[in-house]
Amino acid sequence: MKHVMLVALAAIALLLPSSLHAQETKPFILPFQDPPGPSTWFLGGLYGNTTGAYANRREFYLAGQGLHFGLDFSAACGTKVVAIGDGVVLGADGPWGSAPHNLLIDHRNGYWSLYGHLLERPKLNAGDRVTKGQVVALSGDPDSTCHSRPHLHLELRYNNNERFVNPINVIRADWDTLALFGQFGRGFERDLNDPRKWQTMYDQPDGIRGAPLINDYENPWPPSFDFR
Ligand SMILES: [Zn+2]
Repeated sequence: MKHVMLVALAAIALLLPSSLHAQETKPFILPFQDPPGPSTWFLGGLYGNTTGAYANRREFYLAGQGLHFGLDFSAACGTKVVAIGDGVVLGADGPWGSAPHNLLIDHRNGYWSLYGHLLERPKLNAGDRVTKGQVVALSGDPDSTCHSRPHLHLELRYNNNERFVNPINVIRADWDTLALFGQFGRGFERDLNDPRKWQTMYDQPDGIRGAPLINDYENPWPPSFDFR
């Protein structure tokens, strides 16, 4: 019994510094100047195997294997968006989705960040250098109304655009607290044959562009309409 306890303590001691270390080594910051709040922004939709992405897996999310391949931040139109890290602009309003306007930044560490559903074309051009925290865009609304669902869609792409990764794992923030507020897009689709898989905001899979659906379940919950 004593032995088991010692092993458990040793395991905790090993885990603790590594999780702290992981937090310290997250290279990016949140994409806003101001802290979250009712007059600034809040965490809207999560990355990954969300119920919303699952329901639309054959349409909007097909290229991302059925995952919501970014994070959504609810914010009024015109909220200042900042670069999450130092980098070089790859382009504004390029063919990267997330209409009506977008911005793509290469951070020169394997990651690219995409800022989507922007209010207007960012006043930056390919090759421009940006620094962490610099205002680079204004948030908008995918429906261009500014009252239907205004939000910033933020994607983290890795390895020359091939992979989508969960921004939560590379942006330094108190995600547990950020996730306390709001409801929309928080549910993850469940595979009733493996019901604990991909059910927290931290354990979502990477997506590979153009690869087959990752979550086309035989027994999904909630049940979803099949648009085939
Ligand atoms: Zn989104």
